[in-house]
Amino acid sequence: MGEKVIVSACLCGIRCRYNGKILEKRNLPIDMEDAILVCPETLAGLKIPRTPSFFDNEKTGEGVLDGETKVVSSDGEDRTDEFIKGSKKALEIAKKYNVKKAYLKERSPSCGVNVVYVNNERKKGMGVTTALFKREGIEVIGVE
Ligand code: SF4
Repeated sequence: MGEKVIVSACLCGIRCRYNGKILEKRNLPIDMEDAILVCPETLAGLKIPRTPSFFDNEKTGEGVLDGETKVVSSDGEDRTDEFIKGSKKALEIAKKYNVKKAYLKERSPSCGVNVVYVNNERKKGMGVTTALFKREGIEVIGVE
């Protein structure tokens, strides 16, 4: 076994996505024995299924960490606190296992690495957990 790697749980066939659908398992270039599956949104107590969430401005995950951006659900609920809570719980796990790398689901408001949704439109940006991981020096790799 090598170094532990965090992987978005939904990339591994876990039913944790907002819409309750199971994604096909992705082939990742790691030994899956080293994978720690994490879903920041369900760690924060959000339910499956749940309405989708978006950022309210283009600062995306970084903006949330800086208190300049909110995460809002499609039915208008402010979920910023839950997304921050989920990112902190994911970071606790990363620290516990001395994780240096994470494979994260692209476009998610938690796990997106290059692209996320801002008010229903795809934009360049990153999720809240991704932004926190990057700030903590964890390498983040987006997976479609
Ligand atoms: S993208 Fe991240 S937060 Fe969303 S379901 Fe997958 S693991 Fe959970």
